[in-house]
Amino acid sequence: MRLILVGPPGAGKGTQAVQLAKHFGIPHISTGDIFRSNLKAETELGKLAKSFMDKGELVPDSVTNEMVRDRFKQADVKKGFLLDGFPRNIAQADELSRILQEVNLNLDAVLELQIADAEIVRRLSGRRTCKECGAIFHQEFEPSKQKDVCDKCGGSLYQREDDKESVIIHRLAIYAQQTKPIIDYYRTKGVLKQMSAVGTVSQISADAISLLSK
Ligand code: AMP
Repeated sequence: MRLILVGPPGAGKGTQAVQLAKHFGIPHISTGDIFRSNLKAETELGKLAKSFMDKGELVPDSVTNEMVRDRFKQADVKKGFLLDGFPRNIAQADELSRILQEVNLNLDAVLELQIADAEIVRRLSGRRTCKECGAIFHQEFEPSKQKDVCDKCGGSLYQREDDKESVIIHRLAIYAQQTKPIIDYYRTKGVLKQMSAVGTVSQISADAISLLSK
C-alpha cells in the first residue's frame, strides 16, 4: 500500500496513520514528526524549522522536499509507505511525483479525512503530547490517568505551541489556501478517496481500511 493521508490539522491523521501503517505493515512517514525529532535533537534542520512550526506556518518547500527525498532513499519504502503531513501544497505534490518517479514507485491512494473547523478547534486545543515518546492524549476525550503525565512512558505532557487556539485558526487558514488544492490535484489523477473523520478511532480505522481495500 502506497498511501498519502490528507486532512486539516486535528483530523486525526497522526492517530490514524499509526493504525493504518500497522495494519498494512508499511513505514509511517510524518514530516511533522521528523521536524519535531530534529527540534528535540537541536539539529540545524530543527532550529530552522522551529520558527515556522511555532507560528503554524509551513517550513519552506526546499527544506521539506529534500528531507522527504532523503527519506525515500531508505529501502523500507519498497514495501509501501504512508505519508502523513506531506505534501501540503501543489509544489510539494509535484515534487513528490518526481521523487516517486526517481525510485520507481506509484501511488495507490490519497485518503482525505474530512471534518468541520469548529470540531477541529475543540479537538486540538485540548490535545496534550508527551515530550518523551510523542504519545498523544486529550484533556476531554482521552485524558491521561495522571494529569500531565504520559500513561505510556511517564514523560511529561505539554501543549504543542501550534495547538494553541490562535495558532490553530491560522493553521486552518493555511490549510484552506495551500493544502486544499491538492485534493483536486489527486482527484484528477484518479487516486482520491474521501471519508468522514468523526467517530471513534477504531471505527474510523475500520472505515479507512475497508475503503482502501476496495
Ligand atoms: P504536523 O505534525 O503534520 O501538523 O506538522 C507540524 C508542523 O511541521 C507544521 O505546522 C509545519 O510547520 C511543519 N510541517 C510538517 N509537514 C510539513 C510540510 N509538508 N511542509 C511544510 N511544513 C511542514
